[in-house]
Amino acid sequence: MTLTNRLALEFEQRKNPHPRSASERAAILDNPGFGTNFTDHMAVATWTLADGWHDAAVVPYGPFALDPATAVLHYAQEIFEGLKAYRHADDSVWLFRPEQNAARFARSAKRLALPELATEDFIGSIEALVAADVDWVPSGGEKTLYLRPFMFASEAFLGVRAAHRVTYCCIASPAGSYFSSGVKPVKIWISTTYTRAAPGGTGAAKCGGNYAASLIAQQEAAEHGCEQVMFADAAEHTWLEELGGMNVYLITDDGEIITPELTGSILEGVTRDSILTLAAEWGLTPVERRIGVAETLEGLLSGKITEMFACGTAAVVTPIASLHNDEGDVVVGTGETGETTAAIRKALMDIQYGRTEDTHGWLKRII
Ligand SMILES: *Cc1c(COP(=O)(O)O)cnc(C)c1O
Repeated sequence: MTLTNRLALEFEQRKNPHPRSASERAAILDNPGFGTNFTDHMAVATWTLADGWHDAAVVPYGPFALDPATAVLHYAQEIFEGLKAYRHADDSVWLFRPEQNAARFARSAKRLALPELATEDFIGSIEALVAADVDWVPSGGEKTLYLRPFMFASEAFLGVRAAHRVTYCCIASPAGSYFSSGVKPVKIWISTTYTRAAPGGTGAAKCGGNYAASLIAQQEAAEHGCEQVMFADAAEHTWLEELGGMNVYLITDDGEIITPELTGSILEGVTRDSILTLAAEWGLTPVERRIGVAETLEGLLSGKITEMFACGTAAVVTPIASLHNDEGDVVVGTGETGETTAAIRKALMDIQYGRTEDTHGWLKRII
């Protein structure tokens, strides 16, 4: 272990002189939607090759002025994270495993040749932002304050190399249910036309480019009447990987809960990991292994696979109704939300909202 004496970044608070009124805020928090409304502030910091990280501050929320030659607009050197602040019944505000997001942000940064932001600065930026906008953390039901830390190449330069100037920012958005229709089983299109990530590529990094590459497959899914796309591996088109932005789980009739093993092209979800850790407490046997597309379709037909769901921070747990591909479609169980899937969703949210004991020390109080 190396000991460093670096000072943590100080996120100086520069208050928004024109925050939204209490009644405007109340109207938004009443019906927040997902990703459309933002709070009064944002956290920012700048990195330069010469000076490292500096100019950390919480500032009024607002647009960036970007030179048209800004590198991210051309070469997509960008990464992001997604996590939530949960208001508990006693009005305290908590994060769920934020050090996992910080570690993943650092791994994504490394893969995209961006500078790493220390865990304490990553969490420090969130603490400073939520402190400024604490009134924006909704209470009750399934509402949260969704946090979106991101980092991008902000140097104005058209040469292809890692940028010498990088901007970090964290914005916050009050959120209701990720899918506007609420928790409803989704139809999944298994794409054999497109893949999301290849060995040696950026699949394990949370970068905007992965999402850009998945959008056409999402359109293909929609053309087939499906809400989401499932990607298979790039080399053989044979093995299940994940959805465009969520990991996937299968439940079998003998109590196994199976998720594709991490291959380097699958994003290592915090929700995925939490479910693996908790499975045994729920009386399930967690399994990480390769899962064939054909095996899955057969297992659904024979009744061996009883439930399937997708998981991620934004939507928590989303039941899968059916799988569709060029050859036809197969219903998962009854096509309705499975009992175990519903129980897992509830168990995770009970921990996050402080309604049950946090035996793993996963919650971090910030207010
Ligand atoms: C963010 C993300 C997930 C889910 O990760 P969580 O940490 O559970 O939110 C899964 N797949 C992809 C591609 C992602 O970008």
